Amino acid sequence: MNTHSFKPLTHPAIWHAITDRRMGNLARHTGDDPRCVSQNRRQLARLFLPKRVPIVWMDQVHGNRVVLVNRLPKRPPACDALITRTPHLALAVMVADCVPILFFDPDRLAVGVAHAGWRGTLASIAAKTVQSMSQAFGSDPASIRVGIGPAIGGECYEVDEAVAAPWREQLGERYLKQTTADHWHLDLPGANTDQLIAAGVKAENIERINICTHCDERFYSYRRGQERGRFAGVIALKRP
Ligand SMILES: [Zn+2]
Repeated sequence: MNTHSFKPLTHPAIWHAITDRRMGNLARHTGDDPRCVSQNRRQLARLFLPKRVPIVWMDQVHGNRVVLVNRLPKRPPACDALITRTPHLALAVMVADCVPILFFDPDRLAVGVAHAGWRGTLASIAAKTVQSMSQAFGSDPASIRVGIGPAIGGECYEVDEAVAAPWREQLGERYLKQTTADHWHLDLPGANTDQLIAAGVKAENIERINICTHCDERFYSYRRGQERGRFAGVIALKRP
């Protein structure tokens, strides 16, 4: 069920996990029976977290809003990143090709999650999460440890001019590799890694899983067949 734990996030103060297809679909917005999704979410909590640690999910909207949570909100906040210093409150990000990013500051004892698709990446969601941890918790970006989970790889993520044009405008030809007259391959994990480093995170504190969701069938991939499932990255602080 847990296919990966990140070395920079392996620390006695936190729990974290990246799930895979065996956990089932964890998303409520993709048309699956909500009871099945709830069951899968409960299973996730049971396997990775102690009893009575709630999981905060997001209503992910491909933007760059970062929400600080101190308790379980009544409904999932519309945002693409969550941060907290509250122990026993788990944060979750759902993906199927987009980039799931987990954050941990061992000095300030703070955690975060972010969801970075192409829009969110252009809107600097990963960098904004780091900045929000600095502003809210006094985190030094150089102390923040980051895990970048499975996402669609640069060799598989083909985009057309509608996506390539705004990228070119903001970031130039970087991360774009032309494949045909009007198609390009876009390197989302690479762009997010560089964005985090530019935000002050040390390269040695970032672990990027080199798994392409489109190639590796252990994970859900929206592009592989319009799949409805989403897997998740989860992180939570233990009680001190
Ligand atoms: Zn691939």
